Amino acid sequence: MLFAHDTEVALAAAVALVNTEPMDGDPDQLPDVAALDQFIRTWGWTGEHRGDAAELRGVHALRPRLRQIWQLDEDGVVVLLNQLLCEAKALPQLVKHDEWDYHLHATPPDAPLATRMAVEAAMAMVDVVRAKELGRLRICDSPTCSDVVIDLSKNRSKRFCDGGCGNRAAVAAYRARKSQSAAGSRA
Ligand SMILES: [Zn+2]
Ligand SMILES: [Zn+2]
Repeated sequence: MLFAHDTEVALAAAVALVNTEPMDGDPDQLPDVAALDQFIRTWGWTGEHRGDAAELRGVHALRPRLRQIWQLDEDGVVVLLNQLLCEAKALPQLVKHDEWDYHLHATPPDAPLATRMAVEAAMAMVDVVRAKELGRLRICDSPTCSDVVIDLSKNRSKRFCDGGCGNRAAVAAYRARKSQSAAGSRA
C-alpha cells in the first residue's frame, strides 16, 4: 500500500466525486439529491447529510475545485489545498467510528457535507504532495474521456479511468489486430 488505508479510500472517493461532473457531453452523474444519497452510501460517508438542494449545490461547486488538483502544478496544488483546509478551519483529530480504526477527521461530523468532502480530499492530497507523488494524478488516456485518475499501482501502470475506457481500448486494440491479420491473410 502506498498511503494509509483511509488516505487511499479518500483519494478514490475524491476521484469518483470529480468524475461525476458532466464532461465530454456526458450527463451529470449527481443530477439530484437521490443520486447524491446513493453516492454517499457507496462511499461510506458518515456524519451530517441534509439531503437538500443547498447541500447538492455545495457538492456540485466543489467538483471543479477538486478537478484543479489534476490541472495545477505542485505549487498551485499546495495553494489550493491550503485554501480548502483554511476555509473549512480544518482541525485534524484522530477518531474511530463504525468499522474504521483510528484515522483522521479534520472537520466535525456536523459540518456541511461539501466541507467534509473538501477537507477529506485535501487531507489525502496533502499526503500525496508530501510523498512527492503528484505524478500519479493523471487524466484518462482515452482521447474521448477527461475523467481524472489516480494511479496507486506499484508499477505506475494505470492509464485509464474506472469508467470502462481501459476495456474499450483493449477491445479496440484487439479488433485492430484481428482486422490487420485478416487483411494479411487475404494478401
Ligand atoms: Zn471517518
Ligand atoms: Zn476514461
